Amino acid sequence: MTTTLTCDVVVIGAGATGLTAATDLVRSGHSVIVLEARDRVGGRLWTNDIDGQMFEIGGQWVSPDQTALIATLDELGLETYSRFRDGESVYVGRDSEPKRFTGDIFPASKTTEREIERLIEVLDELTAQTDPDAPWNHPRAVELDHVSFKDWLATQSDDEEARDNIALFIADAMLTKPAHAFSALQALLMAASAGSFSNLVDADFILDKRVVGGLQSVPLALAARLGDNVHLGEAVRTLEWGDDGVAAVTDSLRVEAKRALVAVPPNLYNRIAYNPPLPRRRQQLHQHLSLGLVIKVHATYETPFWRESGLSGTAFSPYQLVHEAYDNSNHGETRGTLVGFVSDEKADRLFALSPDERRAEILSSLAAYYGPAALEPVVYYESDWAAEEWTQGAYAASFDLGGLTRYGADQHSAVGPIRFGSSDIAGLGFQHVDGAIRMGHRLGTEIAASLPATAGVTP
Ligand SMILES: Cc1cc2nc3c(=O)[nH]c(=O)nc-3n(C[C@H](O)[C@H](O)[C@H](O)COP(=O)(O)OP(=O)(O)OC[C@H]3O[C@@H](n4cnc5c(N)ncnc54)[C@H](O)[C@@H]3O)c2cc1C
Repeated sequence: MTTTLTCDVVVIGAGATGLTAATDLVRSGHSVIVLEARDRVGGRLWTNDIDGQMFEIGGQWVSPDQTALIATLDELGLETYSRFRDGESVYVGRDSEPKRFTGDIFPASKTTEREIERLIEVLDELTAQTDPDAPWNHPRAVELDHVSFKDWLATQSDDEEARDNIALFIADAMLTKPAHAFSALQALLMAASAGSFSNLVDADFILDKRVVGGLQSVPLALAARLGDNVHLGEAVRTLEWGDDGVAAVTDSLRVEAKRALVAVPPNLYNRIAYNPPLPRRRQQLHQHLSLGLVIKVHATYETPFWRESGLSGTAFSPYQLVHEAYDNSNHGETRGTLVGFVSDEKADRLFALSPDERRAEILSSLAAYYGPAALEPVVYYESDWAAEEWTQGAYAASFDLGGLTRYGADQHSAVGPIRFGSSDIAGLGFQHVDGAIRMGHRLGTEIAASLPATAGVTP
């Protein structure tokens, strides 16, 4: 039997975006119901216990430019701590030899190092001309959106190792798609969303802090304040919409509202049936945004053994299966945890193996950076978001070649009473929790402005 509920705004998805918007809407005096498909809140933020070890399965790091996220952390009274970073980093080049280094530039040959520095300058300059909220307004937007980042890099440098390293920062490390699969303009959006390309290169900046207890504390605290207005295990199957409002239908609820916010990643928009169907251009637009693919690997050891030999835990290589890895030991723990990432086509290959073969290959890649002690973790876990029905990839979505200039400006438009939004279509904080919170505030404000004014309340 279906129960019918009514409210001003129905929010679909209890991730950071949906819960931020819901909080703002309640504050501005509107009644809100949040419908979440999973049996937990947080979406791509999830802190879990694996064999007695706490892991952040999804998003975890906070960087200093992420002021919307930092403001929420402050408001919720959540404490942060710094990622361990004392000591030398490791780079494995084409020769497979681990080399220690400090600073941001990987220890390749002097010529390659200079070329990496030059390419960073070129990208910083282009990034400075790019508005993260409107990258399609860049004076060379169409040209840059029609060429893949890989091909564009080939026009900039003959030094293959320099190109491989620069590609790593955007392709493997951020969009988690191969550099041939997204445009140079999409790469500029990624860099502009973090303030500059140099910021992406600086691991100490971009992976600065973590939240004590995990970043999922943010959606958990927001949902706690919204109380019974958050309904778990309620996947929205259908949105009926028209001039008079909207109804979100799950297997057990029908929520009738004046407005709806679809706060889910864009690859899932089409899991909902719209009645009547969405306009032609919307249906097209949604097909040009897809999620990347990355395996986040967690390996915990009795001690952080790498620190004893002066290593910080930070490691990179465009030529290793695990293209980047860090000391991810939790606040206050004596055990040591390494976290590493396997992206896009490398992840495809690994998923074709058995779990034991996959684990062996991943640990052997960690051993290339940290030595044989990395082969024997006491707890091992692979975050596999691509297998999650309500996400289907990681970290987030990006446009295909040409998609940003063709559809980008339309992604924020309303369809009758329906708005769409998540970190995947944010400007500043694009693909990050900061972007989710910015989108939540923006949508909460715009939806409230479209409704009759009410007296605000404190959720
Ligand atoms: C492995 C990994 C590592 C990451 N690392 C970082 C990091 O270190 N720092 C950082 O800032 N960001 C990181 N991110 C990205 C960050 O987690 C996301 O950008 C952010 O959490 C997205 O929030 P959101 O609310 O926009 O979307 P989501 O978190 O995806 O929330 C959408 C919600 O909608 C629900 N939903 C979907 N369809 C329906 C439906 N039909 N009906 C009802 N509910 C539905 C989903 O279950 C989900 O709860 C990482 C992500 C991953 C996966």
